[in-house]
Amino acid sequence: ATAKTLPTIRQLPPNLINQIAAGEVIERPASVVKELLENSVDAGATRIEVSIVGGGTEMIRISDNGCGMTADQLPLALASHATSKLPTDEDLFHVSTLGFRGEALASIGSVSQLTIRSRTDSDDAGNEIQVRGGVIEPPQPCGCPVGTVMEVRNLFFNTPVRHRFLKTAQTEKGHIVEAFTRIALANSHIHFVLNNNDKPLYDLPVTERWSERIAAFFGGEIADSLIPINSDDSQIHVQGYVCDPSVSRGNSRMQYLFLNSRHIRDRSLQHALGEAYRGLLMVGRHPVCFLRMSMPPELIDVNVHPTKLEVRFTDGGRVYSRLLQTLRHHFLTTDMTQRVGPAP
Ligand code: ADP
Ligand code: MG
Repeated sequence: ATAKTLPTIRQLPPNLINQIAAGEVIERPASVVKELLENSVDAGATRIEVSIVGGGTEMIRISDNGCGMTADQLPLALASHATSKLPTDEDLFHVSTLGFRGEALASIGSVSQLTIRSRTDSDDAGNEIQVRGGVIEPPQPCGCPVGTVMEVRNLFFNTPVRHRFLKTAQTEKGHIVEAFTRIALANSHIHFVLNNNDKPLYDLPVTERWSERIAAFFGGEIADSLIPINSDDSQIHVQGYVCDPSVSRGNSRMQYLFLNSRHIRDRSLQHALGEAYRGLLMVGRHPVCFLRMSMPPELIDVNVHPTKLEVRFTDGGRVYSRLLQTLRHHFLTTDMTQRVGPAP
């Protein structure tokens, strides 16, 4: 018998590791927009401008007026598993920022041409760093305002298979608009701008009333049918709007749920919504709602999913019944045949 040659086990080079990791978080241009927008929110920006070309496949640029980064921080920001958001090793269960994995920039930089320009308040000038397919150039001084500009060109230029899975510019733009909508809805205290192929698509100044931001996205029909919801127990707070049953939808896409300022999808909570509307909607119709929930971070594990869309509650049953009871209570005390305008 011939001796079998043993396969060699080797450690993958960092470039490949990042490309593989990118497959988890960066699926399409909209994932880039989501990650960069979250970073700008975490950086404390009060104005964030997004510009896309070719559905984001050619170019995505996100400018913010947040805290910025120093020249020393730029290469670190691009390193994988490097984050400023977990100051101590015990913090994983008390995350209050949108990011914490330190993976996004390393991933994006490994599958695109990424340029970062950034300046902090205490710096006289800014710095620029470039990374192309994971190869990082040394930072160079440059002129720029306080804040950060992230420019991503030619996404997936070095990963042909993923490049082939990109859809038309129109479809990719649609996904970007959805990602933008979720973050702009979750953060009405921030001025957001979205430009598509050099044309303005959205310009959303800061609003006192959440309903105004909802109206900016979904128009008068939805805005006129919003029924304010507000409920507290010692730990779980639910606030926002449900819609009059007359504006129901054929799917659940218009159920916007936010948990501690993060957009989430949760089957169990969607089920609670359906239960609350039982008897008010025809079979197959889904309610429209915009609900912001908050609860102490220790009741949540956001670590479940790499894109953090799904969460795990330490007591899911309690959250479910909180939502169901809140809505039922409102439906019992509100004449649902009477449309209620946005609350002051
Ligand atoms: P995470 O957000 O999980 O920390 P990222 O890869 O998205 O990981 O970002 C890495 C680090 O780069 C962040 O922790 C932050 O310190 C810095 N950073 C990223 N984007 C910005 C920004 N727009 N403004 C200031 N700092 C940023
Ligand atoms: Mg991030």
